[in-house]
Amino acid sequence: MKEKTVCWNITSNCNENCEFCYRIICNKENTYEQNKRILDILINLKIDRITWSGGECLLYPNLFDLMKEAHNNNIQNNIITNGKALTPTVIDEIEEYTDYITFSLDALNEEVNTYLGRGKNHGKHVIELLEYLKNKKIKVKLNSIVTKKNIDNIREIIDIVKRYKIQRWKLFKFISLRGKSLKNKNEFYIEDEKYEKLINEIRKEKISCPIVECKEKDIENNYLLIDPIGNFIITVDSKDKIICNLENEKKEEIEGILRNEFRRKLGFI
Ligand code: SF4
Repeated sequence: MKEKTVCWNITSNCNENCEFCYRIICNKENTYEQNKRILDILINLKIDRITWSGGECLLYPNLFDLMKEAHNNNIQNNIITNGKALTPTVIDEIEEYTDYITFSLDALNEEVNTYLGRGKNHGKHVIELLEYLKNKKIKVKLNSIVTKKNIDNIREIIDIVKRYKIQRWKLFKFISLRGKSLKNKNEFYIEDEKYEKLINEIRKEKISCPIVECKEKDIENNYLLIDPIGNFIITVDSKDKIICNLENEKKEEIEGILRNEFRRKLGFI
């Protein structure tokens, strides 16, 4: 059965500087009280899972309070993170109420990670965290962005997927949707054929977890986003469309709009 999920971009702030980034940039973000009101709406709608994203979601000051509240109301928590702000101490702190951690990992090569804007030690740090997570109950997934610049490095990750208990590896085809990804489109653009060839080659490897491909259309069909200032957003024809906002609509109106959106996209509620 399909799940009711939202991707909550809780902050625009980030501690990496990826040249292909397509995050939504807002010059402010909701207070904890405002976000608590959004969470109450999601609890009423009996959402199955929140994917906490950003920017880098770990930079939002009250993230853990919101996650605890979600967990206490039977909502799964999935953090998408570049891992930079994650340490063994933080993992111990969040273990009780975190179901998944999804790491962004597009290459292990230090030069390539530097070029992409993730930083030289990105791959090494993610591997250290994967090692620590081996004895934890939190499940781990990987996200990789496939671009012209790192397509030859994606295979470096196969060994990591085999070595650690990765639940799912999702490979996003680079899309130029917003921000830097638009500005640097020519640098990172990759043809469908090259992307598909890579996916087919990876699928021939003996990898036990699901390999999920994600192209422009999949993003449009799969994601209901919440941005840092409380806009509820869907993506149509590679453009963001705000369907409601915390401050403009009443709580009941937002719930009705979201219910319709889930019905339209997923065929339930
Ligand atoms: S791609 Fe992710 S980690 Fe990189 S700058 Fe954008 S939000 Fe930050």
